[in-house]
Amino acid sequence: MDFTLSKEQKDIVKAAREFAEGEFPDVAMEFDRNETFDLGLWKKACELGFVGVFIPEEYGGLGYGFLEHCLITEEFWAVDPGIGQAVLSTTFGAELLGLFGSEQQKNLVLPSLVTGEGILATAITEPDAGSDVTSATTTAVKEQGEWVINGSKMFITNGNLAKHVLVFCLTNPENPSRHGRHSFILVPTDIPGYEATKMHGKLGTRASDTAEISLVNVRVPLENLVGEEGNGFRELMAFFNRTRLHICAQAVGLGRAALEESIRHTKERRQFNAPLASFQVTQFKLAEMATWIRAARNLYYEAAWCADQGKIDHALIAMAKWFSAEMAVRCADEAVQMHGGYGYFDEYKVQRLYRDVKILEIYEGTKEMEKTIVARSILG
Ligand SMILES: Cc1cc2nc3c(=O)[nH]c(=O)nc-3n(C[C@H](O)[C@H](O)[C@H](O)COP(=O)(O)OP(=O)(O)OC[C@H]3O[C@@H](n4cnc5c(N)ncnc54)[C@H](O)[C@@H]3O)c2cc1C
Repeated sequence: MDFTLSKEQKDIVKAAREFAEGEFPDVAMEFDRNETFDLGLWKKACELGFVGVFIPEEYGGLGYGFLEHCLITEEFWAVDPGIGQAVLSTTFGAELLGLFGSEQQKNLVLPSLVTGEGILATAITEPDAGSDVTSATTTAVKEQGEWVINGSKMFITNGNLAKHVLVFCLTNPENPSRHGRHSFILVPTDIPGYEATKMHGKLGTRASDTAEISLVNVRVPLENLVGEEGNGFRELMAFFNRTRLHICAQAVGLGRAALEESIRHTKERRQFNAPLASFQVTQFKLAEMATWIRAARNLYYEAAWCADQGKIDHALIAMAKWFSAEMAVRCADEAVQMHGGYGYFDEYKVQRLYRDVKILEIYEGTKEMEKTIVARSILG
């Protein structure tokens, strides 16, 4: 198996890194401190072709694979995770629409994500339904040729900014299988009964919008059902098998940033009349970080490569997700440690990395859920 990037892929990496390095550093601290973001930056990224590269050409994208999307993600996160998340999470749900949406739904939503005219969000989590998505209680009931949706959703990325949201709804509560009770429904956000409230006080990735959503008698046409009625859980798993790869790329990007900052600092900072980098303890930390990053990257490259060949390996993707997230947490921790007291302050990038990293072990399946998937696959 050859994981060498093609010339085109290397060019994508270079362009993404140059864009992020040119645009992110000057505003990263301000966005983090104030929980703000400049949508102009997202639009610029769209204009330059960095957003939604995996969307097929017939819907305005570049028709690349998951790997190319991951390569851009890795570079953006290596410069600033918060901004990387704010820019690239705007397509969250496009993979699901691509797999299961009708032609009408795809034509309505996908091109706008690429041009920077629309943002898509996906709302699964509820106040009382997190890891166990099958306990989601937001209902969608058929009434006079429409779905009537009622419920609330929690922690929804871009809930305040999205033009459309894919809402995971309980449509078939009588189904004896808990995996056959839910469906995704496409909801425009400018509709009566949809209300999003910004959630403040996040630990990290604070440039990215997170919202609580309330849906009260929201009415949409029956054709807004995405895929098959009652098939939402299986669609969600297929969706996560793509998006979890993006989380791996986020983790590898963040791990790299932690290593880069640590190398710079330990070469410059002197104690006991010598640079920190000259101490073997420091060298071992750097060596371990570099190895963990390489191992995580190889794992997700393999998983993304398989996905792009149409061979989805659920357990391999789960392995890559938990391993890369834990790897990034360890790298961020060691980076702060090597910065000593300076690393405790937000003037230093490693402090932000230390906060930004934690989400990787939580969203799109906690690390415990990922390990459960792996365990099931090996135990049979
Ligand atoms: C910044 C942010 C952005 C997010 N964006 C989105 C979004 O766009 N859309 C969306 O739908 N959701 C989103 N989420 C929600 C996220 O996916 C959930 O937080 C996550 O799935 C965990 O659910 P929970 O928070 O309810 O935790 P819980 O499910 O309550 O879990 C709490 C802890 O218990 C553990 N646990 C639970 N069940 C078991 C078990 N059976 N065995 C062992 N351990 C278990 C978990 O691993 C975890 O450690 C976001 C969350 C955050 C913080």
